[in-house]
Amino acid sequence: MTRRLLELLLMVSAGAAWGLVRSSAMGAVLGAMLGAGVWLVIDGLRARRMLDWLNRADVSETPRLSGIWQELFERCLKTIKKLEKRARSSDVRLTNFLAAIQASPNGVVLLDATGQIEWVNLTAATHLGLDAQRDVGQYIQNLVRAPAFTSYLSGDDFRAEIQISPVGSRPLQPSKISLQIHPYGSKRKLMLTRDVTALELAEAMRRDFVANVSHEIRTPLTVLSGFIETLQTLPLEAADQMKYLGLMNQQAQRMQTLVSDLLTLSRLEGSPVPGQGEWLSSEALLSQALSETRALSKVIAVPPHHIVWLPGPGFEIAGSKSELLSAMSNLLSNAVRYTPGGGTVRTGWRRRQDGWAEFFVEDTGPGISAEHLPRLTERFYRVDHSRSRETGGTGLGLAIVKHVAQRHGGQISIQSSLGKGSTFSIAMPPTRVRQLKQSEQPAEISHGN
Ligand code: ADP
Repeated sequence: MTRRLLELLLMVSAGAAWGLVRSSAMGAVLGAMLGAGVWLVIDGLRARRMLDWLNRADVSETPRLSGIWQELFERCLKTIKKLEKRARSSDVRLTNFLAAIQASPNGVVLLDATGQIEWVNLTAATHLGLDAQRDVGQYIQNLVRAPAFTSYLSGDDFRAEIQISPVGSRPLQPSKISLQIHPYGSKRKLMLTRDVTALELAEAMRRDFVANVSHEIRTPLTVLSGFIETLQTLPLEAADQMKYLGLMNQQAQRMQTLVSDLLTLSRLEGSPVPGQGEWLSSEALLSQALSETRALSKVIAVPPHHIVWLPGPGFEIAGSKSELLSAMSNLLSNAVRYTPGGGTVRTGWRRRQDGWAEFFVEDTGPGISAEHLPRLTERFYRVDHSRSRETGGTGLGLAIVKHVAQRHGGQISIQSSLGKGSTFSIAMPPTRVRQLKQSEQPAEISHGN
């Protein structure tokens, strides 16, 4: 300030002195005024430079200033740099915050008071078929047009979530979305979305399963209660009574098999995956499964099947004995149950080129047309309903086989075509297969029936 005053005084005095020298006292006054004027112009120019610099807001530039303007410039520069630093750290925090929301498995949409999109993460964009960049500023009700959403958004009760099925053609877009709005701030809204397609599917499967089990149990129960009523009301000959009791026994057996298969499935789903602890001989497993199959063939087929065991290289499988036996028996009993009497069933274990071990069952039965193949391992899925029931099928056999294979890290595969028989196989990964030494190989035997 003093410097500024000194500058002014210097200019005024210089002007006055110049006026005095050039003329009279009046000249000195005029000279002083002229000096003050010149100072004002110079000061004004500095103020202009300062304003220009402020307008350009370019901190890398240093305007030519002096005195109080230089000081003002330095203070402004310091404040601007401090504000810039603060803005930069806010930016970093905002970026981190948005990145965290971006990484959320849930969809997040921020809406302003009028329902325009302020920000949307990629998950919500996929769920709702939005474009995370282009749709910012658009009204959400123009983009998500499900009627349930429109009435939810226009109401003011957001306590419960709603479910919508977005109609979009985007890849990865889920078919069922759960969505809830949470109001915040001044009429702003936070909208959260969740993909519930899998949950919905699981729920539908559960409903189907309960309906199927009820249906499977109701049929034998109805038959049983019909026979009980007959026995109670009609005076039957001893031979007829025995006949009815035999039929009742069949129905009771059917329910028993169903319950036993259901229990097997639930055990497979609920128990830990079998470890690598127990090594089982592939040929011993097959021998055990085959004795049951031959007995079954004799009971249900006239003439019995020709069952051929094709001996392979001896190896051992690591896994659960009861599970592997159950899977192998299921495939063998299916081959026998669906192949007419006198047909041929070939079975055995073989080692594939890629190191996997494969148990296969090949039959000369009716075969299965291609459209059924992908669904065969679904619970209660049957191609031939009457043959399945006649031969005591529950519709759960292949579901059990698939579970057992998957629990051992393996796969089930089915090759079949109508009229040409079928081949079912279970492949076990190399980690669960151990080749037997030459001395341990089983003796060469042909196991025809
Ligand atoms: P099920 O107890 O009815 O045999 P599965 O789950 O074992 O149930 O098999 C599902 C369906 O697949 C059967 O109902 C049958 O229609 C068909 N199927 C299974 N194995 C064979 C086979 N070897 N030949 C022809 N059809 C078969």
